[in-house]
Amino acid sequence: MSKTVIVTGSSRGIGAATAMLFAEKGYNVVINYNNSFESAKLLTSSLRERGLSVIGMKADVSNLKEAEILIKETLYKFGSIDCLVNNAGISQIGLINDIGEYDSNRIFDVNLKGVYNCCKAVTPVMVNQKSGKIINVASMWGEVGASCEVAYSASKAGVIGLTKALAKELAPSNINVNAVSPGLIETSMNANISIDVLDSFVNDIPLGRIGEPIDVANAIYFLASDLSDYITGQVIDVNGGYII
Ligand code: NAP
Repeated sequence: MSKTVIVTGSSRGIGAATAMLFAEKGYNVVINYNNSFESAKLLTSSLRERGLSVIGMKADVSNLKEAEILIKETLYKFGSIDCLVNNAGISQIGLINDIGEYDSNRIFDVNLKGVYNCCKAVTPVMVNQKSGKIINVASMWGEVGASCEVAYSASKAGVIGLTKALAKELAPSNINVNAVSPGLIETSMNANISIDVLDSFVNDIPLGRIGEPIDVANAIYFLASDLSDYITGQVIDVNGGYII
């Protein structure tokens, strides 16, 4: 029987590359989105046309009820949830005093509470199965901090803390909880960064290039596979060596 994965925030970027990779490897894939119905629909139908098993599901992961429905509907549709990839995230650049309360709350609500909500909702399912893989998408800024991204960095540091704590809590139930921590990856999240800033950033990346979404998807896929069965509570950096 095919395994099932939910990839939150997979209408584009890293999530879309991850959804595509898992679908190509034979997983049933739930493509979750919140606002981007059109791009989620486009991705879902293009994969379905290739005979792959995917469905789209709208849910705002920052809302516990919606996260619970996402899990419940996936279970109803596919009968098991083998892997949850908590990828949905948002960012905003600005000095701490230039970011309004609504915007900073939203960053914490989506990036940290969203991961917490989906983990909370999926845990009873995976404990009951006595198996499962949870992979959280953190960020290198959650490890070393970024100026002008204080809320974002703090939310991602929280994701790393959550990953380690939940790994300990769920290990006795044979559930692995790990994180990937991307560096600068070419997605719409970085669309507003100027070419000059990107060029100077690349100079500081030992592998000499910005990452592609598939670079992160490959690490996520490894953490979902049997090859990582003895790995839990870890953070895998995917940053071209930017922080070592
Ligand atoms: P992206 O292209 O902006 O995609 C973000 C995805 O998250 C979209 O599919 C978006 O869908 C979804 N999303 C946002 N809020 C949501 C919510 N409340 N509920 C459900 N889905 C939601 O960003 P990306 O670069 O691929 O980022 C993916 C993850 O990698 C994020 O967690 C990000 O923080 C992390 N990351 C990215 C980089 C980078 O350089 N790109 C580096 C480190 C970490 P809708 O439009 O439908 O809301």
